[in-house]
Amino acid sequence: MILIVAEHSNGKLAKSTLEMVTAARGLQEGGREGPVTLLVLGQNIAGVANEAATFAEQVLVGDSAALAQYNAKVWAAATAQIAQEGEANTIIIGGSRSGREYAPRVAVKLGTPYLEDAISLQVSGEALQAQRYTYLARVTETVEAQGAAVVVTTKPGSFAPAGPAATPGEQYDVELELPDSGITVTGKNVEKTSRVALTEADVIVTGGRGVGSAENFGKYVEPLADNLGAGVGATRAVVDAGWRPYAEQVGQTGKTVQPKAYIALGVSGAVQHLSGMGKSKYIIAINKDAEAPIFKVADYGIVGDVNEIVPALIAASQK
Ligand SMILES: Cc1cc2nc3c(=O)[nH]c(=O)nc-3n(C[C@H](O)[C@H](O)[C@H](O)COP(=O)(O)OP(=O)(O)OC[C@H]3O[C@@H](n4cnc5c(N)ncnc54)[C@H](O)[C@@H]3O)c2cc1C
Repeated sequence: MILIVAEHSNGKLAKSTLEMVTAARGLQEGGREGPVTLLVLGQNIAGVANEAATFAEQVLVGDSAALAQYNAKVWAAATAQIAQEGEANTIIIGGSRSGREYAPRVAVKLGTPYLEDAISLQVSGEALQAQRYTYLARVTETVEAQGAAVVVTTKPGSFAPAGPAATPGEQYDVELELPDSGITVTGKNVEKTSRVALTEADVIVTGGRGVGSAENFGKYVEPLADNLGAGVGATRAVVDAGWRPYAEQVGQTGKTVQPKAYIALGVSGAVQHLSGMGKSKYIIAINKDAEAPIFKVADYGIVGDVNEIVPALIAASQK
């Protein structure tokens, strides 16, 4: 089977899970054998398991108090056990911070190769081939793993989110032999923001150096994003200038995103930026330079000054 460990939060599958389903379906079409299987781990996860069944051919549900909190040791043990029992040939784990923490442990337990941070995946005979960025994303490397099974993490935003499967998958409860975690999360201070995370957002409003200043982000980018229920992105120039946090950087050395609509305000469209958002469904650009490279990839563009156009957009989006 092709095993995917589902990422979910607040009772809903994360977008990254649907991206992994796309990767798995591609491998299945390429000849990798077995059903696309989602492993859902957690406590009180019946709702997530039902949602998972709409995307996968089968869903394995590990619902236990011992899985109430994410823990690398426990997640690695559960994943390796299921991979072994189900003779998984491919184990796909999200390239989130936690995914990248436990995926190598799964590979060690199974004695398999590990392909980290894949931006694309192909079957090549008996081997699994992945592309990934290296050398600060200046180089795209192709790597190939041989072996009866391979563990892979996928870079968030690199695959289009999958649509539902033709027929819902079967659900099975699994009995897991879990180790003591050794670590307990004793406090959680959740940032109070109503703004959607970049990797989950259907709409992203990104500001570039053309926005002018950190203050102008508060005047233009944030209100427009809030009116549209969008995430806020930034270019590296903006992050380097200290106007926005690195977490918002989109591009080769930032996040890779694939929203339905990407609105770029005062962004030139450097190749390193485009590589992080070029797969967005619709790209809308506002830039005062008609020759800016962003217009070569934009579906809709306005040649003009953000100081004049964005207030009008904010007013229109308020209605
Ligand atoms: C190894 C490497 C990795 C990199 N990784 C990334 C990355 O992950 N993400 C990233 O974004 N960049 C990355 N870069 C940097 C990238 O090359 C560009 O320098 C950067 O994207 C430029 O950001 P910008 O578009 O905000 O600024 P600029 O290139 O300065 O463009 C500003 C744009 O705003 C327009 N403008 C100015 N004033 C206005 C106005 N009033 N109204 C409307 N438009 C206006 C200008 O016409 C211009 O097109 C990387 C570079 C390297 C070498």
